[in-house]
Amino acid sequence: MSVNEAHRLRLDPIATPDRLLLGPGPSNADPRVLQAIARPPLSHLDPLYLELMNEVQEMLRYAWQTDNRFTIPVSGTGSAAMEATIANTVEPGETVVVGVIGYFGKRLVDMCGRYGAKVVEVSAPWGEALSLDTLTQAVEQHKPAVLALVHAETSTGVQQPLDGIGDLCRAHDCLLLLDTVTSLGGVPLKLDEAKVDLAYSCSQKGLSCPPGLGPFTMGPRAEEKLDRRSGKVPNWYLDMSGLKSYWGSQRTYHHTAPVNMNYGLREALRLLCEEGLENSWARHRRNSEELWAGLERMGLELHVPLSHRLPTLTTVKIPDGVDGKAFATHLLNKHGVEIGNGLGDLAGRVWRVGLMGTNSKPENVERLLNLLDLELPAFRQGSAAA
Ligand SMILES: *Cc1c(COP(=O)(O)O)cnc(C)c1O
Repeated sequence: MSVNEAHRLRLDPIATPDRLLLGPGPSNADPRVLQAIARPPLSHLDPLYLELMNEVQEMLRYAWQTDNRFTIPVSGTGSAAMEATIANTVEPGETVVVGVIGYFGKRLVDMCGRYGAKVVEVSAPWGEALSLDTLTQAVEQHKPAVLALVHAETSTGVQQPLDGIGDLCRAHDCLLLLDTVTSLGGVPLKLDEAKVDLAYSCSQKGLSCPPGLGPFTMGPRAEEKLDRRSGKVPNWYLDMSGLKSYWGSQRTYHHTAPVNMNYGLREALRLLCEEGLENSWARHRRNSEELWAGLERMGLELHVPLSHRLPTLTTVKIPDGVDGKAFATHLLNKHGVEIGNGLGDLAGRVWRVGLMGTNSKPENVERLLNLLDLELPAFRQGSAAA
């Protein structure tokens, strides 16, 4: 296109609709968060911004219930923070045991392999969790440097129990790495009590902020492992030894922080602190219980047994004869409501309904149940009402 043809690129202003995002993420951002993001940017070295960074760190520690000094939002989505945990603590040739109970466990396996780890996969069927016995056996047999688990497996709706796993890792001099992307803020979790050494999350699920930041935390045992690495962290951007100088007392430039996203995260965490962590956990549980009861009243089946069911994400079995994808598309197009389709082993078998952050409220449960009541019968008869 020539320099004179700019008129061809002159588009209308952005006009995205208001959707209700009840899928696996992103969830809706709280209006207060969006207002905060709209503030004019400061420099990433402005003293006022440096103060804001401290506030975000302090509130993140609260959200995770950790005293870890090194707790920061990584510039990037949850996967960037995920990669940061591995890049910093796994050295080539080291063994990592990964608990695979769904799609995101597989992503951990892929990442660990790329950083040269000897990866041992310990798997459970999609819809189940791993037992302490199984994990104990794996750790005793393979003596890994790191055990990586997904606390809230968004692809299946399963919550991985953590009882005893922290002690197991300490007893075998192994770091415990935990994916808390779909649990932070919505699922009971106290990182230090659970003896978790490394964890990551995202901004766009339980925290009611748009995607763009990946909370990351590293405890003293993980920091020590980073300090005694034999080689450099093979990823410049995510190298915490470099980032430490920006987030620590020196405040030297590493990369330009996405300052407006951090405004948003600050407001999102402020909302969480106003509500109180335990109240937020209880709210997520209460609203999901309402959803489960409503779905079951309608004759729909849930994929995960109550004992391991996540309060942030519910997998609902697609009734026989219903085209699940077509139904989800119909809800989005006709009603502006998003629910998620199945992933991996569960593709075509379940819908994924997220009630996370600000979206976890009775009105949303009611709206979705009413929509299912209204729209599903036509799809059950195979006559897609499109
Ligand atoms: C969403 C998700 C991720 C990836 O986060 P992104 O923000 O999409 O990069 C990782 N793990 C789990 C369990 C998730 O649900």
